[in-house]
Amino acid sequence: MLTVFNDLHTVHHGKVEMFRGQLVPCFEVPARADYVLRELQERNLGLIVPPVVFDEAVLARVHSQRYLDFLSTAWDEWVALDPANVDRDALPSYWPIRTFRADVLPASFPARMGLFSYDAGTPLTAGTWQAARAGAFCALTAAARVLRGERAAFALTRPPGHHAGADFFGGYCFLNNAAIAAQALRDAGVDRVAVLDIDYHHGNGTQAIFYDRADVQFTSIHGDPHTEYPYYLGYADERGAGDGLGFNRNIPLPRGTGFEKWRDALKDALRGIAEFKAGALVVSLGLDTFEGDPIAGFTLATPDYLRIGEDLARAGLPTVFVFEGGYAVAEVGANAVNVLDGFMQHIA
Ligand SMILES: [Zn+2]
Repeated sequence: MLTVFNDLHTVHHGKVEMFRGQLVPCFEVPARADYVLRELQERNLGLIVPPVVFDEAVLARVHSQRYLDFLSTAWDEWVALDPANVDRDALPSYWPIRTFRADVLPASFPARMGLFSYDAGTPLTAGTWQAARAGAFCALTAAARVLRGERAAFALTRPPGHHAGADFFGGYCFLNNAAIAAQALRDAGVDRVAVLDIDYHHGNGTQAIFYDRADVQFTSIHGDPHTEYPYYLGYADERGAGDGLGFNRNIPLPRGTGFEKWRDALKDALRGIAEFKAGALVVSLGLDTFEGDPIAGFTLATPDYLRIGEDLARAGLPTVFVFEGGYAVAEVGANAVNVLDGFMQHIA
């Protein structure tokens, strides 16, 4: 399988995140992508290419301009607040929740950090914009290659993307790579695009971006938000709104779910995608469904990921895979590449 690799991913390297009252070392680390790259090379799974550079205007097809403006200058503003900030990650401390205004753009940088975010677990660092922008270009390059006839392509990048909304970051995500790829497929003339999110955590950003649209169907299999992050979205009764009613599908599963039940959910999701008659599929490929993941709660084992790849190949669609979560760092390479390998073996 063709892989588009973001070799700038290492410039986004958070030091700490807020976790239940403590600043702890980040779970989302550069080694994650390095393990996947090494596994791809060792198993000789196909060409690995750099992303093409696109006009940044394409990012505004999914994200608001005021959010993109904020992200592109955020680090400089953070350091301008206090020169000592150059050695500290930027984390938000204030949020405009219910009854506050979100339409006013405050002059205060800390106020804008809160306006454009929803948690304190997502540090913004010196290289965040550069890494995220190159990651979005990876997703766009993968989509472009699939449009030109490649059966599938894999965008290997971090930071991940599926928690990022049109105008907010959170959950380690800044630009929504899967949504950017799906929109690019639509803009190139694919009538109906399906996005399938198999990360342990609900893809709240992707859902929100496409919630009122009938041309992009969103399906997510994830830990039940009653107990699992991101808590405030991902329930089964969220089915879309307006024109999008019926084109959003959430399949929450209880913490502790094993592969047999998870695979039933995948087959169910793929039936829905087949009924939608999609012209292309974007897979938000999170590997934190793994039994050894430190921040998740399903019990999938490494060989199970081969079966997932096979099931996805059976959908018979041109497919863009986008790397999302997966925090059992030593195993994330084998698990990710098993999905891609299972996929390729089934179409070969
Ligand atoms: Zn996740």
